[in-house]
Amino acid sequence: MLADFSIIELAKKMRSKEISPMDVITEIYETIGKIDKKINAFITLVDKEQALRIAQKRAKTREAARSPLFGLPYVMKDAYVTAGVRTTAASKVLDDFVPPYSATVHRKLEDAGAILIGKMNMDAWGHGASTENTDYGVTKNPWDITRSAGGSGGGPAAAIASRLAIFAIGEDTGGSIRNPAAWCGITGLKVTYGRVSRYGAIAYASSLDSVGPTAKTAEDCAHVLEVIGGKDPYDATSSPQPVVRYSGELQGSIRGKKIAFPKEFFKEGLDGEIRKAIVEARRVFESLGAVVEDVSLPMLEYGVPVYYILAPSETSSNLARYDGIRYGNERELFTQETKRRIMTGTYALSSGYYDAYYKKAQKARSIFIEKYTDILQHFDAILAPVTPGMPPKFGELLDDPVKNMMADLYTVTVNIVGLPSLALACGFGSSGLPIGMQLIGRMFSESTLLALGHNYQKTTPWHKKHPGVLA
Ligand code: GLN
Repeated sequence: MLADFSIIELAKKMRSKEISPMDVITEIYETIGKIDKKINAFITLVDKEQALRIAQKRAKTREAARSPLFGLPYVMKDAYVTAGVRTTAASKVLDDFVPPYSATVHRKLEDAGAILIGKMNMDAWGHGASTENTDYGVTKNPWDITRSAGGSGGGPAAAIASRLAIFAIGEDTGGSIRNPAAWCGITGLKVTYGRVSRYGAIAYASSLDSVGPTAKTAEDCAHVLEVIGGKDPYDATSSPQPVVRYSGELQGSIRGKKIAFPKEFFKEGLDGEIRKAIVEARRVFESLGAVVEDVSLPMLEYGVPVYYILAPSETSSNLARYDGIRYGNERELFTQETKRRIMTGTYALSSGYYDAYYKKAQKARSIFIEKYTDILQHFDAILAPVTPGMPPKFGELLDDPVKNMMADLYTVTVNIVGLPSLALACGFGSSGLPIGMQLIGRMFSESTLLALGHNYQKTTPWHKKHPGVLA
């Protein structure tokens, strides 16, 4: 199956004319036809003939053939505007919205010659951890269709696990790339805040949102990041830090790299099988020459309360533009979860409560920055779980808002501080479901994280496993 190959293997085959962009598109649409009715990863599938026409055009272009992404089909979480392709944010409020312009990330991928084939399911507006808070039906986990694929980017992650695209673009405000990557057994990179332009991303919480790749491996993520990263005149918060050739820096030895193992991430509340798999991963890193040391990251437990003041505050302001007048449908179409967030956020920002909630949360944010900086001064990365539990059954999180928030315990502080974090599979539970871990790094240290991930994947089999739903 072509979709099993890495980006670089596919690029080589394209250059030598062993395969063409049309071959990949044809095969992928066949797989989508078989699999997507079982897992519901797509909200909008680009018309096959249209995708083939673009592929044909690509096959004739030589210029763009320099990028390894040339001719490869990709999907995006439906949280980015794509000119001429319906964009919903998984909400009926935008059900029939066809944007007149494209997000920078989409434009860059098109310029590199990649082909957009779909807009993927998610929790509406990014609000959730299970892709149940969507107006387009839940996305099922390809490893067990009675369970969630994670959220909010369940669609892109399920699609990559099921080989319905070569790579995907996710969006991570508090874990939405990493959580579904962990629950679907794939690799996802939450980049440093500002590494990738947010222009054209449908804003959830603007000071936390980050755009990043989801793919089978760290190596594939490196190739995508090389294309999408960089300063963008349309996004004042995008960083002028030069974009490194991440794929060129994967091979180096990780001997001597220092990895922190923070005890607060491994306390009770963490599933026993997840703990065991990550302790085993620690051993793998040690066997590769890395030095792993126990550390303490106090305050972790305040991450969820702080995040659930900051994120709803920002979303209450961002979603005010969907007033049903300028564009979009009626506001009453917002789901219960989204209404809850708009109300909490409005409350936290209102005069009289601002100091007690929003301002206090911002102060806590500064303390989180100090605590992470203290550790990362001495370590190249922090090894941690992504989620406290295994992929939940449907309803488990949806019916219990507190449990839903606690699913974000290990991911949200990373966004609060703005750091990069790579999530990747590190084992399987006794139920046959994948287990993920994350490597959190210093600002703009994506190349270190990707090299750690790549070295780990060279010696372990987890990223090569296929979900049973393919059978
Ligand atoms: N689960 C978190 C939330 O609901 C994170 C979502 C995200 O990263 N978009 O806010």
